[in-house]
Amino acid sequence: MKKITIAIDGHSSCGKSTMAKRLAEELCYVYVDTGAMYRAVTLYALQNGLMDADTKEINEDALHDVIDQISIRQEKGEDGKVRTYLNGQCVEEEIRQMRVSSCVSPIAALGFVRSHLVACQQQMGAEGGIVMDGRDIGTVVFPNAELKIFVTASAEVRAQRRLAELQSKGDTSLTLAEVLENVVQRDYIDSHREVSPLVQAEDALLLDNSNLTIPQQNEIVLAWAKEKIGC
Ligand code: C5P
Repeated sequence: MKKITIAIDGHSSCGKSTMAKRLAEELCYVYVDTGAMYRAVTLYALQNGLMDADTKEINEDALHDVIDQISIRQEKGEDGKVRTYLNGQCVEEEIRQMRVSSCVSPIAALGFVRSHLVACQQQMGAEGGIVMDGRDIGTVVFPNAELKIFVTASAEVRAQRRLAELQSKGDTSLTLAEVLENVVQRDYIDSHREVSPLVQAEDALLLDNSNLTIPQQNEIVLAWAKEKIGC
């Protein structure tokens, strides 16, 4: 059976990763979460004093000098969960924290960060048989992907889902309004940046999952994938 490339893009916290992971499992494909890669670079910048978490000021020259030394990989554990490693250390929990969420979009707007990560992503998916989620997968990373999906949902629904996710991990420090503000802010920066702004590829299929359950959305995208694969 032919192995295709599946690009899933869309707004923040709209369930792209859940969808992409499930689809990769169903098809026995590799799953890559590119948002986690931008988050890992952000964590590196924060840990090494290259970004001020309060002012969001970035020491671009210093980050540029070390970008090639930042190694990021994703690995599936025995429990089936994909985890992100930054220079050999598992950072899966830290990169999901609000400190990183609120700093990631300015880092992801830097051209040299994007070109470094895009090259890594293209290498990861060179063989096909991959489901990759992010913001520019169908437009920049794999413009020839056989299946492109653009996912969205209302900002309120997305903030509620994100808050529930944070709370399920024991983080009860945030209000719905704070999470909503972060979601809206990231949408704005991601869609208005100069380099590879978030935009629906012309040939992407649109999925608004505001009123869909996870099984319903999985069923829809699996049917789209099977149609492209021809099975
Ligand atoms: O997908 P996630 O919300 O974890 O992504 C975190 C941030 O990384 C996004 O808000 C966006 O700024 C950036 N990103 C990006 N391009 C990608 C994936 C993520 O700019 N392909």
